[in-house]
Amino acid sequence: MDKRWLIAVICIGALAGLGVYLYLNLRPTFGRTARLRMWLRDPSAHPEWTMHAGTRCGTAPFLFPTDGFIGYLWDDSFRLGHRHQGIDIFGGTEVGKTPVVAAYPGTLTRLPTWKSAVIVRVASDPLQPGRQIWLYYTHMADPNGNSFISPDFPPGTTEKDIDAGTLLGYQGDYTGDPASPTGVHLHFSIVLDNGQGGFRNELDINNTLDPSPYLGLPLNARTSDGEVITCTGVGL
Ligand SMILES: [Zn+2]
Repeated sequence: MDKRWLIAVICIGALAGLGVYLYLNLRPTFGRTARLRMWLRDPSAHPEWTMHAGTRCGTAPFLFPTDGFIGYLWDDSFRLGHRHQGIDIFGGTEVGKTPVVAAYPGTLTRLPTWKSAVIVRVASDPLQPGRQIWLYYTHMADPNGNSFISPDFPPGTTEKDIDAGTLLGYQGDYTGDPASPTGVHLHFSIVLDNGQGGFRNELDINNTLDPSPYLGLPLNARTSDGEVITCTGVGL
């Protein structure tokens, strides 16, 4: 009988711990989903929630890379154990309509197999000069993989010089699975160099940087106050 009680107490404790863990980790993301849904229902109802491509917030080194609502942040959690490696900006339009521009100058590469993504090498991190970083822009295709990337950057493009503000393409909803497209958005992330002139695996948050200081916005899910994120920077 004593043993059974002990097991019951351990089970209840474990469940309570799991509940607290889920609450702390997933609740902020659920809150952002609710607000995103509200904005997507009628973007014109909340123009003050919308960011614009080419905006610089304060003295941040990067330009904001697209138009839309900042739906999800760096280190948001979409499911147990998941940590989001970038930010998601939702244009509120059909696919192929909302422009995506370069946040910072560099050299652009699009691997031969990439339908929806480009990556830009920045030889010297503006916030840590001498360190090489990579800026990753993705979801620029429709569910079937028809690309919305600018024809200036066909598959196989390697190390092409671009400026801040260069048009890279348009937001899409490509996920790799035509049966389950995502909402129309840009996923943008800052990826660490692998030390051999290449980029690390972007899917692991440990290989990415908190974009907050680069864009001059509070984009870290762990420290966000849950408010809508915008800035009063001057657009290009
Ligand atoms: Zn994302």
